[in-house]
Amino acid sequence: MGKFNNEALVKEIKRRLSIINLVESYTSVKKTGKGYVGLCPFHDDSNPSMHVDEEKGLFHCFSCGAGGDIFGFYMRYNNLTFPEALSELAKKADVNIERQPESVPRRSQNSVLYKINAVAAKYYRHILQEDSKGKRGRDYLERRGISSETAKEFIFGFAPEGWDNLVKYLTKNEVPLNIAEKVGLIVKRNNTEGYYDRFRNRLMFPICNVEGKVIGFGGRRVDEQDEPKYINSPESDIYHKRKSFYGINKSKDHIRRESRAILVEGYTDFLSLYSSGIRNVVATLGTSLTREHVSMLRRYTNNVVVLFDSDESGRKAAKKSLDVLLEEGLLPHVAPLPSGKDPDSYINEEGLDKFNELIENPISWVEFWFDMTGDYQKKGMITRKQMLEEIVELIEHVKDPVERSFWIKKAAERLSVPESEIYSLVKHRRSEKKAGGTKTQLKYPNTEKLLLTVLLKFPDLKSILAEEDWKGLISNTEIKSILEEIIVQGNYDPSSLLLRFDDKVAHEMISEALLSSPGIPDAETASKIVQDCVGKLKLSKLDEKLKVLRIEIDDAIKEKDIQLEKKLLKEFGDLTKQKQREEGRAL
Ligand SMILES: [Zn+2]
Repeated sequence: MGKFNNEALVKEIKRRLSIINLVESYTSVKKTGKGYVGLCPFHDDSNPSMHVDEEKGLFHCFSCGAGGDIFGFYMRYNNLTFPEALSELAKKADVNIERQPESVPRRSQNSVLYKINAVAAKYYRHILQEDSKGKRGRDYLERRGISSETAKEFIFGFAPEGWDNLVKYLTKNEVPLNIAEKVGLIVKRNNTEGYYDRFRNRLMFPICNVEGKVIGFGGRRVDEQDEPKYINSPESDIYHKRKSFYGINKSKDHIRRESRAILVEGYTDFLSLYSSGIRNVVATLGTSLTREHVSMLRRYTNNVVVLFDSDESGRKAAKKSLDVLLEEGLLPHVAPLPSGKDPDSYINEEGLDKFNELIENPISWVEFWFDMTGDYQKKGMITRKQMLEEIVELIEHVKDPVERSFWIKKAAERLSVPESEIYSLVKHRRSEKKAGGTKTQLKYPNTEKLLLTVLLKFPDLKSILAEEDWKGLISNTEIKSILEEIIVQGNYDPSSLLLRFDDKVAHEMISEALLSSPGIPDAETASKIVQDCVGKLKLSKLDEKLKVLRIEIDDAIKEKDIQLEKKLLKEFGDLTKQKQREEGRAL
């Protein structure tokens, strides 16, 4: 964003849009003493570590370091460039940016990909709803009893039979085919020039991100002899199945409102629940649940009910999901379907009331696991020892110690094993894990960070630094340039300060400094801290110089260069004296 000269525009947008409101549409936040905290959407957060300050217009995650203002949040979350974020947020704020020609957004690669998917979705929808080629799709929906409201709400479409219907449509609409290939809508021909349609004679389910932008498609066959049953878009810059849930854009608000998410296996299950009025649902897309999924889900609720088919593969998938949910610190529940049933057939045969009863009375993951492995053990598929090992593995993931001992007790009862034995097995595994963990290193010296924090909070103290050769003392380049803005330019307004820097690191440092609470009661204490920091930095600079000198002296001795040795020794003596003086001052 560099030397952006639309400062007034940026400030106007910030004045009109509340950062709390924006953040809240992505993750839930709670009011605390001073500001708001919530789960950080930028890392796997289990304890709310993101702080949001309405007055300062900033957010900062004290765990992963993500931070900045409303623009920073929006850019990072939606993977946009600054001009793109500016244009979208200006729209949200109802600010007209047309008259600033220099700020016309340059479309980034990703927004082009979204756009192409939107064009394709529109085409498929048109075929399904209005074209004679879409009759098969309409017939299929009728057979399955899917309402036209659902079809409209989820922008269902139909990819007609034939090799180049979409290719022709895209060409007519001047969509660059090589880019349409990047989202997997069309495929390059092997032997000749050109492309062909990936999806043919299939009902099309657009897959959307949280914002409702189409990131990919699922295509279901309408002729039972077509193989495979489902074709999904390949991974692309905007579609990652590890991170995507079908329907999350529609269901996230319901999940938050009901503080519960029902996890199902695919979009057909999702759709049959959703159209029956059960709206707090999410579905994975041809992959088992991942950590990324869970951290996304956790923005809306910690309460997950797993609802998978009751066949062997469904149960295995459920176990896998439980593993991930537990590892991510959740205590999931399972709604066990009677054997041979999937969610769709259960609703159709037993009715919605019975289905709701099932969802309202889920069993805990441990009970589910016992029932499942108990079955396996009876059939001789696993031994008691294996059962014990697996339960220890699961319990080990439970983070809360009270919960953990509760489940240890339950497991001991069910397996007829002394509680102490399970306890020590779990403890052993946990301590092994801890020893393997690594500590993250500080990104930059703490003293420099503290100095920045104090100066941003008490900008008048810049005079203390101005008297020193402060540039020679700071080694972190971002901190140095932020301090330069404060000390030399006298610019310490958070909003203008952020505009001076393009890079994420500087933004994160500014938001961290402004939202952290180092507990400085008054300006006098602050001034002492600044002097302390300067002293410490001087000392460490001196130490550095002394270390280098020592090496140079050693070299001079080896080289038998007595002149040089003498000169260096004198320098060494001077610096040592200087160091002692500084140390004396520090006392
Ligand atoms: Zn974070």
